[in-house]
Amino acid sequence: MSRNVNTTFTLEKESASGARLGTIQFGERGKLQTPALFPAICIMTGPPGFGRQGSHYKYIKRAMCRDWRHNHFLTEILHFTDYMATKRSLDCWLKKPFQTWMDEMMRGGNVDTLDQGRMGDFDYERAEKPYENCFFLDSGGFKLLSNSDFSIEKFGYPTEPKSILELQTKMGGDIIASLDYPLAPLAYDTKSLVQLQNKSLENALWLLKAVDKRKGKEPKPLIYLAVHGVDYETAHDYTDRLLQKIDRLGTKYSAFGFAIGSLVPRRTNRGLVASIVKGVTDAIREHRNGFYSQKPVHAFGMSGDLIPTLVMLGVDTFDTNSFVQTGKNLKYILPARATDKSVRETRSIDELSADTLRMCGCRACKSYGSLIEPLKRLVRLERDKRHQVEGSARDLIKSEAYAFLSMHNLEIEFREIERVKAEIAKNTLNRYVLDYAQRSNNRGNLIRAYEAATGQIVPRPDGRRVSLNLTRDSFTIPDSYRPPEGKDILLLLPCSKDKPYKSARSHQAIRGAVPDLRVHVVTISGLYGPVPEELEEQPEVLFYDYVLSPEAKEQTEEVTRRVTDYLRRYGTNYKFIAAYVTGRAYRIVAKRALKAYGKGLLLPSDPKEQTSKEFLRYENVRELQQALLSPIAQKHRQDAQLALSM
Ligand SMILES: [Zn+2]
Repeated sequence: MSRNVNTTFTLEKESASGARLGTIQFGERGKLQTPALFPAICIMTGPPGFGRQGSHYKYIKRAMCRDWRHNHFLTEILHFTDYMATKRSLDCWLKKPFQTWMDEMMRGGNVDTLDQGRMGDFDYERAEKPYENCFFLDSGGFKLLSNSDFSIEKFGYPTEPKSILELQTKMGGDIIASLDYPLAPLAYDTKSLVQLQNKSLENALWLLKAVDKRKGKEPKPLIYLAVHGVDYETAHDYTDRLLQKIDRLGTKYSAFGFAIGSLVPRRTNRGLVASIVKGVTDAIREHRNGFYSQKPVHAFGMSGDLIPTLVMLGVDTFDTNSFVQTGKNLKYILPARATDKSVRETRSIDELSADTLRMCGCRACKSYGSLIEPLKRLVRLERDKRHQVEGSARDLIKSEAYAFLSMHNLEIEFREIERVKAEIAKNTLNRYVLDYAQRSNNRGNLIRAYEAATGQIVPRPDGRRVSLNLTRDSFTIPDSYRPPEGKDILLLLPCSKDKPYKSARSHQAIRGAVPDLRVHVVTISGLYGPVPEELEEQPEVLFYDYVLSPEAKEQTEEVTRRVTDYLRRYGTNYKFIAAYVTGRAYRIVAKRALKAYGKGLLLPSDPKEQTSKEFLRYENVRELQQALLSPIAQKHRQDAQLALSM
């Protein structure tokens, strides 16, 4: 009854802001794109099998597997202690891995053993083809912490890391987390904090060593090493200590990543959560020049409005049970509406109509569209009992209403994840995160998280969105401005759609081609005119969205005037001035300004076309490199030649 467990993570793309796209491969040929959200569910909710018992969970598992073919779940393995009392009942589940139990449910149940329950409880008639699921098995550390009497000895296991790994292995975990000790939302003194952290840290190392010893066909799960801190510094410190110890271990096992815990009890303070996560991802990036930065990062128990911010910080996977909690509270999260509307409003089930569900159109709303009125009646009736409800041909149990709301709420989370992926692909996540925060009904809190994540201060002008109020006078170079000392080569570049400019692909390519420390980049913004590189991250510069076109005559004149002013004011600070511009509108500006100032080189000297396409053409970039090699830049000839040969 073994199952191939061999899980890997591959980082596909990392945007300048830190957000990542990746792939988790599991089983024979299972695949999962990240960022991904693992729904946290309970599986062993009584006697086997998979689609049985556990009130709302059984409907969730049946629909999500048999109808949606959803392929990734998280379960906290010690949940069985809430549903079962004996070693015998646990051993029954441990006879085969979760995947095999799920396969049986897909086929319609094992009729011989009645594993899926009595006939009336399951549609054996309908058989679906099994598929591979990625099972993320959390260690259940939270249970151990919150209840000091907690023990799994009556189930035949000593309460220690070895037992947890044994259970995770028997259950067939594709991803497993180390046994950890979450930090309660208390004010710890340094000594007790470090003591608690060290317990988690030692277990993480123990797990890495244990899996490293495995041979041949033994399971090779992706292991998430738990990381805990209460603020930026303590999270950073823990991560760094963990990484140093991993260095010293010298393990060959490479399928591991980092899972950040202790966030759930702090989640109402979004800024603190962002700081803790940043502490971890900064430490990973800084350690040995980013040696471990290809490893995946998980944030335990995080979902909802924090996902965009945490993805921006480099988190790859999430898990959540809050969709079930909101469902049980009879709450329905409204789908995102027009982009200027607020996000994440909820309605109670009583306020829903068939129209609401049709408008949403998610998989849950589609299958329950015709049952919404019966479900509304059902929730007023007694739970865990079959009811004949007017409007429904079959008997209903209240749990099914919870399951419907839960699955709809989960679909809203999945839509958000898809949206975030698209923004990463476009390199526009930063801006999306801030816009999202501005629209949220949790606005102040999310803006603080954005500030903690980016280090930028977001102005709060009388409650309105900054990005809507930007005019060409929203940004000017302050009178006190002086170009930086030692940078005596001025390079004017056209603005980019992605901000900050220095993170845009076009600017990165040029900066990489002329990596001279003496080069001072000043961007010609189509809206504001010159923007020196030190001022690129001002909010007004980060969040405007304007591209100069040749038709905008008056704006072209104004931008030209401002660039000329810049040259007249600061030109003598530079020994060499060049503008590298290919698009027509920006080239007009550069040409006129250099002419008016009477000094400076316009490059490329003769582009094939005046379009942005020419910007990264090899001959043009090379011409720029050659120009900067002129006698004035002689001192750095060697460095630049080095760049040329790359
Ligand atoms: Zn829906």
